[in-house]
Amino acid sequence: MQHFDILIVGAGHAGAQCAIALRQYGHAGSIAILGDEAELPYERPPLSKEYLAGDKAFERLLIRQPAFWAERNVAMLLGRRVVSVDPAGKTVTDLGGVAVGYGSLVWATGGSPRRLSCAGYDLAGVHAIRTRADVDKLAAELPEAKQVAVIGGGYIGLEAAAVLRKLGKPVVLIEALDRVLARVAGPVLSGFFEDEHRRQGVDLRTGALVEALEGDARVSGVRLQGGETIATDLVVVGIGILPEVASLLDAGATGGNGVAVDRQCRTSLPDVFAAGDCALHVNRWAQDALVRLESVQNANDQASVIAKTLTGQEARYEAAPWFWSNQYDLRLQTIGLSAGHDASVVRGDPATRSFSVVYLKQGRVIALDCVNMTRDYVQGKRLVTEGLSPDPIVLADTAVALKEL
Ligand code: FAD
Repeated sequence: MQHFDILIVGAGHAGAQCAIALRQYGHAGSIAILGDEAELPYERPPLSKEYLAGDKAFERLLIRQPAFWAERNVAMLLGRRVVSVDPAGKTVTDLGGVAVGYGSLVWATGGSPRRLSCAGYDLAGVHAIRTRADVDKLAAELPEAKQVAVIGGGYIGLEAAAVLRKLGKPVVLIEALDRVLARVAGPVLSGFFEDEHRRQGVDLRTGALVEALEGDARVSGVRLQGGETIATDLVVVGIGILPEVASLLDAGATGGNGVAVDRQCRTSLPDVFAAGDCALHVNRWAQDALVRLESVQNANDQASVIAKTLTGQEARYEAAPWFWSNQYDLRLQTIGLSAGHDASVVRGDPATRSFSVVYLKQGRVIALDCVNMTRDYVQGKRLVTEGLSPDPIVLADTAVALKEL
């Protein structure tokens, strides 16, 4: 049986960063990354942006070139999926029944796309965007597609809609809630992106519940509650992910919607850590609520905390969350978490397509959403990280730079 001092399961952002940081911090023992995709670790954000648009070749998405992993002696066990964990025997077993032993285990498995639960969810022509394979399959069907339906008005659905419009496809976007981005942003930002997508020709429906996907073998329509059927021959579903934690929870790890970790990203199982989209953690930027964050920043920073801990350094995960999204020529940059805000201030006029929204809770700044406004993003970070309480009237005044506050 193969055995590694540190075995990382999941060859994504967190898995790659953990191995990179371990070598950087001087870990001399053996490291392996075991992942179910065929590819070396690659960047996921471009999948719904430049890669879907055909503007970036896959090789440019690789987090590191093949030689990097070889030079640092990081074994890549790819195309293998872990299905069980034995924390007492310190082994994992893959789908083919092959066991691999570990000294420490890093669980970095991200999540798999949530599927629709209605009839027709598995018809041909229904796609998700999580992996390179997903996008390659979608892209292969695109030239023939005459009418695309995107289900889900979160970042991935909106980014996909923007690319599909750029490629000239008619797009209907269907969101169940009464506004897009409802879970991650305030109404001003939602309204701005809704207007923008409509201006770009997206037929955007909010408060629209999907009752069924229709079609014989291939999807031919989306039936909404209320009876309307939207004709379509290609559906992109972007309704969130389910964290990939079943085998860890089966092995006795604490968790639910993710695997629970402490400030050092330790799970409740001995010598088992977790990072990234699958890690349920207490986050000080979410007022100490238990959350899972789905961002490159969170994956990288948690992975680095694990690498530090495993190399005997003091580390705590408390980095301020940041995120970005590109749609059309708009670049959104976010710092902090706006959930739970009780007030917001708009800086600048959304009609100019360059503005920021500052979110406050009990007078303190907890997050910023900046659209084509990198200056506010850079200068406003401190407002969030230091929890400052500027006067909202001054905050709204674009003549006052945020760094002056
Ligand atoms: P992943 O990168 O998903 O890696 C997990 C890996 O583990 C995957 O390869 C998975 O197949 C594998 N795996 C799962 N289960 C097993 C198993 N049992 N055995 C072996 N391998 C397994 N974030 C941003 O900050 N900005 C963005 O603009 C942005 N855009 C995005 C666009 C898209 C289309 C997507 C899908 C995500 C985007 N994200 C963005 C989110 C970001 O990509 C994720 O937060 C990040 O990839 C999380 O890293 P991770 O390592 O936790 O998971």
